[in-house]
Amino acid sequence: MSQDPQELWAHCLLSIERQIRPQSFSTWFRPTKAKHFDEGNLELEVPSAIISDWIENNYLSLIQRVVKDETGREPRIHFSITSQETPTAEPIAPPATPGPAHSTSGSSPSGMPTPGSRTAAEEGQNLPTHSDEWSSSILFTPLNERYIFDTFVIGEGNRFSHAAAQAVAKSPGKTQFNPLVIYGGVGLGKTHLLQAIGHYALARKTAERVAYVPSEKFMSNFIEAIKTRSTAEFQRLYRSADILLIDDIQFLLKGEHTQNEFFHTFNALHQNGKQIAMTCDSPPGELEGLEERLISRFKWGLVTSIEPPDLETRIAILHQKAEISGIALPDDVASFLGNFISSNIRELEGALNHLMAYCAVHQVELSVEVCRKIIQERLPVRSSHLGIEAIQQAVADHFGIAPELLIGKTRKQEIALARQIAMFLAKRLTQNPLKVIGLHFGNRDHTTVIHAVQTIEKKCIEDANLAHLVEILSASIQQRQGPL
Ligand code: ADP
Ligand code: MG
Repeated sequence: MSQDPQELWAHCLLSIERQIRPQSFSTWFRPTKAKHFDEGNLELEVPSAIISDWIENNYLSLIQRVVKDETGREPRIHFSITSQETPTAEPIAPPATPGPAHSTSGSSPSGMPTPGSRTAAEEGQNLPTHSDEWSSSILFTPLNERYIFDTFVIGEGNRFSHAAAQAVAKSPGKTQFNPLVIYGGVGLGKTHLLQAIGHYALARKTAERVAYVPSEKFMSNFIEAIKTRSTAEFQRLYRSADILLIDDIQFLLKGEHTQNEFFHTFNALHQNGKQIAMTCDSPPGELEGLEERLISRFKWGLVTSIEPPDLETRIAILHQKAEISGIALPDDVASFLGNFISSNIRELEGALNHLMAYCAVHQVELSVEVCRKIIQERLPVRSSHLGIEAIQQAVADHFGIAPELLIGKTRKQEIALARQIAMFLAKRLTQNPLKVIGLHFGNRDHTTVIHAVQTIEKKCIEDANLAHLVEILSASIQQRQGPL
């Protein structure tokens, strides 16, 4: 094998590329160069401190393993920063593991809040007042005090976006994440992260003029400005932002003039080294109606996604939200809720708030029992036309058995489990009384149905795979049925 550092490193990169997500590879590894590579030392040159910090904290062991496999060497790994990094760009600590100088997140690496983390109110108190013009401008939307980094729980699905948002907040306009576009489904924390950038920048004075605006408001502001012949004022204000945070850019699609205005606002800010961060409900490239020139501008920076949280993160979020409300959430309750509401953090939060309110009003302890009741109440009203047969069919299909087996008396373990899941889903997805459900399962007693429902609930708490399966079945049955 050649001894050229770049070539040796290229071999390693090929292997790394196969082992991590393409987006992670292109952000963290694509810009790396091997400056020096021998038995004892591998010096990697990267364009900025955030990249070296991130690689060091997240990929060091992967690199060591790959280097050993590919070259047989076990060098020490160092980083150097490419000299053309903007001189003003301050080195940024790895966002996931903030150092003492800028300990911004109250979360431990597992995402659980750590004692002594600052509350929303505390961070809010630190916010400097904007200049009069900015604070009083009706063009922008005030930041929600709760949406700060301290209250954002980090998990696999959002780690990357969180890191990028923190980097941007620490050095607005000076990282390679300009613009930053965060996309993902509803209720996954996009607005929270976007606003956290603004809060952080104001609190730590990394920027003075932060403009947050949902894109519909940008659009209506602009239309209003045209009507009142005040476009010059509109442009002056928007273009003097240090950070422009635009939420839900998918709504920009509807207006050609607005997109044009946005394009020029974007260019003016970007040229002046100002930061732009946006959120979107899908990858910008897939938005029909978004102009190509805008999509290509977005590629100058970083487009990153937020994925739905895994069970561990959902539970951590529940604990954190309860803690903010000054309530200790029992583990079994967190686990129960976390298992049942899997795709949307807003829903999760809603159920928790409902639960806490219920317990406060009725003066009862937080328990799985109460939780079950709340979840039942929160389930969307299902019409009874969703047939128990359809549920039996779907469950039987999944287990690869005949639906009749669910009705019959077989006690074989797998069939008994499938039967219990089917009963559970019949209870959850239809409005049939327990007695009727029992009838559909070979005239079983309603207590058997109750037992099945409780067994599945309990197993879901203990077994995340089963919980996941139940969720998937539930979603697919509803899909087969069409809108209920
Ligand atoms: P989106 O903009 O993606 O629809 P939001 O940012 O409005 O979602 O988030 C919905 C709710 O969930 C908010 O109350 C937010 O604080 C909360 N939330 C989302 N993600 C997290 C997280 N990782 N940690 C804590 N709270 C979160
Ligand atoms: Mg939002």
